[in-house]
Amino acid sequence: MSSDCLFCSIVRGEIPADVVSQTEHTIAFRDINPQADVHVLVVPRLHEPDIASLAAADPDVTIALIAETLRIAQAESGGQYRLVFNTGEAAGQTVFHAHGHVLGGHLHSPLPS
Ligand code: 5GP
Ligand code: ZN
Repeated sequence: MSSDCLFCSIVRGEIPADVVSQTEHTIAFRDINPQADVHVLVVPRLHEPDIASLAAADPDVTIALIAETLRIAQAESGGQYRLVFNTGEAAGQTVFHAHGHVLGGHLHSPLPS
């Protein structure tokens, strides 16, 4: 847990979110600024700054995160979706607590090239 981390605050229930699922290791909620018809963020309860740090720190939680991301993608987007794990500022990461984006349906703007 990191006291000044936005997603840790959501994990602790201190900041409200439109929660889609909760598991032992993860919480998923709708993105506040959706980039597609379906836009869900899947977040490990464990604080690590990005997916690479998470994979190094705890492979079991990483597998749980990816499995839950796939389950939500299937449930929300009927088998056709994009999964995005932005890693690093230059790749567009803005919240430095590991998370996956589930994007389904129509994108609201084209992905940057
Ligand atoms: P990143 O750019 O780090 O990959 O993704 C961070 C995502 O978090 C962005 O898509 C942004 O819209 C979303 N976000 C930022 N603040 C909040 C918030 O307070 N609540 C929710 N639900 N999403 C947020
Ligand atoms: Zn955090």
